[in-house]
Amino acid sequence: MELLIKALHQTCQTNLLNEKILVVDSYSIGEQIISHYMKEGYNAVNLKVKTVRDLALGFIHTNDDFCNTAIGSHLVYSLLKQLKFNNSLRYFHNLEITPNLSHGMYEVIQELRLAGYTSNTINDRQFVITEKGQDIIHILKSYEETLKVKNLKDNCNLYQEALKVGTKLDCIFLLQSNLNLSHLEEQFIGKIISDYIVHLPLTPVYGVVKPQSSKYSMIIEGEPTPHSYLYHLDASENIKGNLSLFTTKTEEHELKEVLKRIAKKQLPFDHCAVYYSQSNPYITTMYHLSEEQNFPVTFNEGIPIQFTKPGKLMTGLLKWIKSAYSVTVFVNILQEGLLNIEGDGPSNSTWITLLRKANIGWDATRYKMIFQNEIKSVETKLKHVEDQQKRLYLRELREHLSWLSHWYQTVFEKLPPISMQSSITYETLLLGLQDMIRNYSKVSSSYDLAAKESLIDTIDNILPYVNESLTVQEGIERLEELVLQLKIGASKPKPGYLHFCSFENGLYISRDHVFIVGLDNQRFPGGSGENPLLLDIERKRLGRCIPLLQEKSKTRLYKMLQVLASSSRNVTLSYCQFDVNENRATSPAHLFLQSYRLQSGNKSANFKDLKQSIPVIEESIIHSRDWWADKLNSATLNQLEQPLLSQFEHICRGLIADEARQSDSFTVYDGKIISNTSKFDPRLNKNTTISAGKLEMLATCPYSYFLQVVLNIKPIEDTVYTQERWLDPVARGTLLHEVFELFYRKLQELNEKPSFENHHSLIVEVAQNSLAKIKEILPPPSENVELQEITEVLESCETFLKLEEENSIHGSPKYFEYSFGVDGIEPAIITLPSGTFHVSGKIDRVDLQPDGTYHIIDYKTGSTWGYDGNIAFRGGRQLQHLLYTLAIENHLSLNEGAVQKSSYLFPTKKGLGRAYERKQLESIRTNGRNILENLLTVIEHGHFTMTDDENDCKYCQLKDVCRRSTYDKDQVDIKHQDIDSIGVRSFKGVRAYD
Ligand code: SF4
Repeated sequence: MELLIKALHQTCQTNLLNEKILVVDSYSIGEQIISHYMKEGYNAVNLKVKTVRDLALGFIHTNDDFCNTAIGSHLVYSLLKQLKFNNSLRYFHNLEITPNLSHGMYEVIQELRLAGYTSNTINDRQFVITEKGQDIIHILKSYEETLKVKNLKDNCNLYQEALKVGTKLDCIFLLQSNLNLSHLEEQFIGKIISDYIVHLPLTPVYGVVKPQSSKYSMIIEGEPTPHSYLYHLDASENIKGNLSLFTTKTEEHELKEVLKRIAKKQLPFDHCAVYYSQSNPYITTMYHLSEEQNFPVTFNEGIPIQFTKPGKLMTGLLKWIKSAYSVTVFVNILQEGLLNIEGDGPSNSTWITLLRKANIGWDATRYKMIFQNEIKSVETKLKHVEDQQKRLYLRELREHLSWLSHWYQTVFEKLPPISMQSSITYETLLLGLQDMIRNYSKVSSSYDLAAKESLIDTIDNILPYVNESLTVQEGIERLEELVLQLKIGASKPKPGYLHFCSFENGLYISRDHVFIVGLDNQRFPGGSGENPLLLDIERKRLGRCIPLLQEKSKTRLYKMLQVLASSSRNVTLSYCQFDVNENRATSPAHLFLQSYRLQSGNKSANFKDLKQSIPVIEESIIHSRDWWADKLNSATLNQLEQPLLSQFEHICRGLIADEARQSDSFTVYDGKIISNTSKFDPRLNKNTTISAGKLEMLATCPYSYFLQVVLNIKPIEDTVYTQERWLDPVARGTLLHEVFELFYRKLQELNEKPSFENHHSLIVEVAQNSLAKIKEILPPPSENVELQEITEVLESCETFLKLEEENSIHGSPKYFEYSFGVDGIEPAIITLPSGTFHVSGKIDRVDLQPDGTYHIIDYKTGSTWGYDGNIAFRGGRQLQHLLYTLAIENHLSLNEGAVQKSSYLFPTKKGLGRAYERKQLESIRTNGRNILENLLTVIEHGHFTMTDDENDCKYCQLKDVCRRSTYDKDQVDIKHQDIDSIGVRSFKGVRAYD
């Protein structure tokens, strides 16, 4: 940079009052050069900074709009669709037209047009396949016509017109070295440039081939620095660089180490710049670190819009539409705090609770309908309730529900209908989402504000060109490509800020301390690849400065070496040994080895030497969170001093709990209650009933019972929308139970026995009525899915009917949905040696057999897993058959033994119509009572240990609360041997019963 400034100064001094134009690739580069120049105390009288585009614009007067990338990609998408629809494409005909493809094609069109090619001048023989060339010509032609019709101009039009009217400018031209010029730009600059040209020099780079350049983009070299020899070590005798090298395990550690070094040396942030070899994941990581720890950073490329609240809201809204307005997706938007709702709406938590309680599931039409029903129900309650507190609560509830009903109605007037295949205009979708962002997006930072404005402007920009119809799905895909790729908050280096940018933009940034991260061999110099839309072989044939992708890695290496050569002071290079995104180990880049060789003076050092000399930095502590993580994870945990720990009450309690959990005893942190547990024992509380489900839960895992019944912790069960399924297992089971019951009641009215031939149409009718009812409450995601699931339900009904016809000789149904202990019905009473307890339940069906005995039938609509074989109790996990036997005998005042068997019937396609019978013999009853006795002992003593079989945890929804996985492998087994825990022994006793 010093060389460049010197040359600039010489020219300015010699031509103080003459007009001078500094031609640069971007304003950012121009600003950096001028700022450095001024910092040196020089003045810049009559010195203007311009890009080639600015110079062209200076000659053009037009009322046409300019076509930017967003508009261009959008137009290319539409024209590709049209060409494909008209069968005008041959080579690209089979390609699916996606927003991604259109974007790629738009870039190729730009490359060709800036190389001066039009549909009339390009030759199809320049492409590897003539058909491809012809398609490209069609596409170019269509693009040219579209621009004309829409009165739009792109950069190619700009340079072509400027070439016609441009004239030589009488001023001094200072050209940035290695200007990035297209063929048209080169021609244009050749036309307007004067004879007084100064090429600004750069520090030379030795040992690698210079990239090709033209008359105006040549690289002029000045004096070398030690780093100029990085790839020419043989000539670097007695030359030592100023490089520091380090390596870490992950990218996050790498950036933390950079920050630690800045802090340790107390470097001002605005004396430092961090360059990355690849933006992902470095931008994300640096952004999160700066947010967490609140230090100032300027991001040269900006940050992805999805990091901001408006960006997240846009993503959330697109997901919401895709999910057919699923409540679960909307709840996520609320939970993330992305909405800014002014006025008297409910708080976020009340909103979420009301949404969950309403059981809307999905579908725009259901929000209003269900909220209206809820409002009516609250109003009915209000008529009868006299308690003032309750009335106050109900009135508030009514207000919230009315507000929500109105809010959703307003929103759904703007957003598209539910089906992804529905047709809408793209404009409607854009306007709807723009309205949501404008009115409801939360803004809490300058990035949020920039993101909100950027989203609104980007949509505004393309609105004049979007009048076509498309499906909701297509619209969403196009929007995702359009807005979610946006970056916002791009900034030049600012005083007081650490600057973070790609090394490719680092050449003109003058900071005293440079850190370059990501120097592993995967990221740097990176692969060369091919663009299938325009192959390198085609680029070579076309010529005219169209860049070759095979040169990419060489160009990157050259640029990096230029950056290093120009940064002769305080350069720190690093790489991390593991790529978290790709989940693979990485090795240092060759550049890293060269840097080590230069720095160490050992020119023949190899990667092994490098590895030995540059040890991995394990952890860089820059935040109290890192410090705690380090202490808590390390073996030196006990060395934490008590006075320090005592300041952190929660951590102290956590440490005590952790120690207790890791001990061999069964403790209060493992499900043991040491206070009075009598209120949980149903034998002592006759107002408490217990169900078969809860007893089976207790037998499966007492800890799960402890969490769910004692502590009342419930997993959140949202109705999840998927495009592939309508009825979830619970909804389908409830529906089939209802159909079987209704069908049998009709048969009873007819006084007939089930017959497949006679009653097939009856069961189908019953099923269709029930399906129609459920459809009103729970709409299917699509006709296909609905049809498929109706077929499955009807197949299950047929299986059921065939089974019932075969079994009808063994008995006839006497009771359906026989209930006790629910809906105001007296509970059943079970008597054990230790006392009696009350039971509640609902038995699907009770048949009376020809011999006057009873047969209990329980319909199961899931898999038969765990029911087959000759087992009665599965270690206590299957108790229902026994409990219902004892309960109904008591409730109907039958003699012991009146119920002879209890069956699990699987009348579905999945269950293959299987039935598993449990004969209620004397031995089963005795064993069953023993199990119940043991289980009540668990409750009596409050010893709710974890299950002894990890298979029970597979589908448990309380894993995150229970955290069984934090125990050492055999720890739970060891705790089960605690001889002082009577409840635990009783639980183990239950397991003895197969
Ligand atoms: S995860 Fe396992 S141990 Fe924990 S509550 Fe669930 S079933 Fe019990």
